[in-house]
Amino acid sequence: MEPIIVDSREEGTVEIDSDILRLRPLGAGQEVGRSCIYMEFKGKKILLDCGIHPGLNGMDALPFVDLIDPEEIDLLLISHFHLDHCGALPWFLQKTTFKGRCFMTHATKAIYRWLLADCIKVSNISAEQMLYTEQDLEQSMDKIETINFHEEKEIAGVRFWCYNAGHVLGAAMFMIEIAGVKILYTGDFSRQEDRHLMSAEIPAIKPDILIIESTYGTHIHEKREEREARFTGIVYDTVTRGGKCLIPVFALGRAQELLLILDEYWAQHPELHEYPIYYASSLAKKCMSVYQTYINAMNNRIKRQIAINNPFVFKHISNLKSKAHLDMDEIGPCVVMATPGMMQSGLSRELFESWCSDRKNCCIIAGYCVEGTLAKQILSEPEEIVAMSGQKLARKCQIEYISFSAHTDYKQTSEFIRALRPPHIMLVHGEANEMNRLKLALIREYEDQEKPPEFHNPQNTVTLELHFRGEKIAKVMGNLAVTKPTAGLRLSGILVKRNFSYHLLAPSDLNKYTDMVMSTISQRLTVPFEDDFDHMLTAFQGYHLEQISDCSVKVFDQIQATIDVQKKFVILDWISSPESDMYADTLIASLLKSSIKNEEIASLSSNKTMDVDMVSDDNDVKKFYPSTKTISSQAKELLFTNLLIDSLREMFSLQEKDFVVRTVKHDSKTTMMMTDNVPKVEKLLAFKIDNEADVEINITSRQIVRCDLDHVRNMLNRFLSNSVEIGANS
Ligand SMILES: [Zn+2]
Ligand SMILES: [Zn+2]
Repeated sequence: MEPIIVDSREEGTVEIDSDILRLRPLGAGQEVGRSCIYMEFKGKKILLDCGIHPGLNGMDALPFVDLIDPEEIDLLLISHFHLDHCGALPWFLQKTTFKGRCFMTHATKAIYRWLLADCIKVSNISAEQMLYTEQDLEQSMDKIETINFHEEKEIAGVRFWCYNAGHVLGAAMFMIEIAGVKILYTGDFSRQEDRHLMSAEIPAIKPDILIIESTYGTHIHEKREEREARFTGIVYDTVTRGGKCLIPVFALGRAQELLLILDEYWAQHPELHEYPIYYASSLAKKCMSVYQTYINAMNNRIKRQIAINNPFVFKHISNLKSKAHLDMDEIGPCVVMATPGMMQSGLSRELFESWCSDRKNCCIIAGYCVEGTLAKQILSEPEEIVAMSGQKLARKCQIEYISFSAHTDYKQTSEFIRALRPPHIMLVHGEANEMNRLKLALIREYEDQEKPPEFHNPQNTVTLELHFRGEKIAKVMGNLAVTKPTAGLRLSGILVKRNFSYHLLAPSDLNKYTDMVMSTISQRLTVPFEDDFDHMLTAFQGYHLEQISDCSVKVFDQIQATIDVQKKFVILDWISSPESDMYADTLIASLLKSSIKNEEIASLSSNKTMDVDMVSDDNDVKKFYPSTKTISSQAKELLFTNLLIDSLREMFSLQEKDFVVRTVKHDSKTTMMMTDNVPKVEKLLAFKIDNEADVEINITSRQIVRCDLDHVRNMLNRFLSNSVEIGANS
């Protein structure tokens, strides 16, 4: 028995579509902002991040999600809480047909909520342009599931887990495995440990594809100590000369790092205590509680410090709930950290506008700035800027740029790639020129190697196609695996495909290893039979019989035939299988044959009788058991003709009056004539060739050789190959 049916169409080495892995940036392709990478492999569709572009508003800020069908996305993974990675999430979860699963880390989820609520409040765009309301945000929370670092999940056959990415609290790098192919998405990451965050991990598992940020291109960051010294130096100079120092920040993330630095610096410099430091964020308090909750996700330095005193309880920094608490004209020298980080709108923008014309003041840009924002614009130190009101303002204040943003620099990126050595690297999250420079520099690093990794940097909406031929391995399990395999051993069982792996099982093990069960189908068929038990035995003559009682017999060890002489029928009972179903068909045919009235046979019978004697061929799927039952060739002809006529009537919906059947005696042909009102099929000659016929039937090979109607020929052939073999002679 061979229970595995192999479809021959699946054999061969044709490249099938499912071997292609598609990666398509819907955002963050040769740009920074609206990170959203679409990935498709083996029918699984995944989105990595769902951010907005900080330099754009409303629908324009969205990634190109109109190119995908949100309904088809199985999984959405969010790397961290920055808006360019999660800013479009409430919209995507609430306003699209997305019905897949969405994951982020616990800390990301906690901060995401406060951060986006704050964004909704401070954004100064019109209600129509708003992508979502606070209510949408609130409702979206239930749809977000959380994942711990290193915790493995499996959704729809896609395995994934995440690593610490440094960058900001809760930031994760996701490793995704589909059908054995591993993809690592770094999100934003940093390999440098700072005051509160650990550096990004280097996964021990090597990915096949690395999707990596390229924000800083080929830049190399200044040393942490130098950077901090420069920062505190500028702050010191500004306040001591009577100026106000503005530091636009994201509410959460790098702001906490800067607060830690400033608080420590003030503690060391009592002469500065007269200058207040304000952290102007409505989120400040809420944020701090989140930060205090997730101390565990931070580095050892913080964990050690927390044992003595909470470093997030700042001694020299006061929170400002809103600008109402800050009389902007009256206030003297001070340091204010205010949101948003790129001064698109909000308090940082207002403060900048009212302070920028005084050359004593200073604005420190402490993070990466996206094209199209005021923060990016002032880096080129313009003479004047355009206020929110449209009014032109002179810019005289000092502008400083000190990057505290925890993104990798060239050195870190290069080392990270070298450690993982993936065959494919896709660069995302970088301005086109920076990204190109990085790509060229990386290619140069590997140029004298035999198999250098391939670097890709597709633009937004451009699909990158990579070919991965997954090896198909079937694991043998259960009873089938008990005996040690030997060379040439043939196994047969049930091939079970679960997600992307195959298992070969004995049918009896099915319920042990899968949630499938094996069921049996009992078949019972009642066949009209007017004779007695002995005649039934005669009908089954030549088959393997085993008498069970005086009215029932077991045939071929599988089918029980029971006769009911009173009711004039035979009941066949068997357990269904391709094999026993076929035997049952044979028995039914034998019973029907035997039922032909003797008179009918006699009327057609010549003196000469012959045996139906067919060769049993083991290779043939349909095994035929020769019957020694004697039946005249005329009776066989009659049977066959009747069967043929019935089938033809059914096929062409013919009425009785549409055709006549006659036997042409002189060369013992049976001719079935169709009357003229049946179009096209005018004559049908069974058994032998008629000179004028359109159709030839060769019964020996059971194939209609010629027919000018393909349609008719196909149907007849199908009929003939399915019919019980009666009347086979030359
Ligand atoms: Zn980020
Ligand atoms: Zn980012």
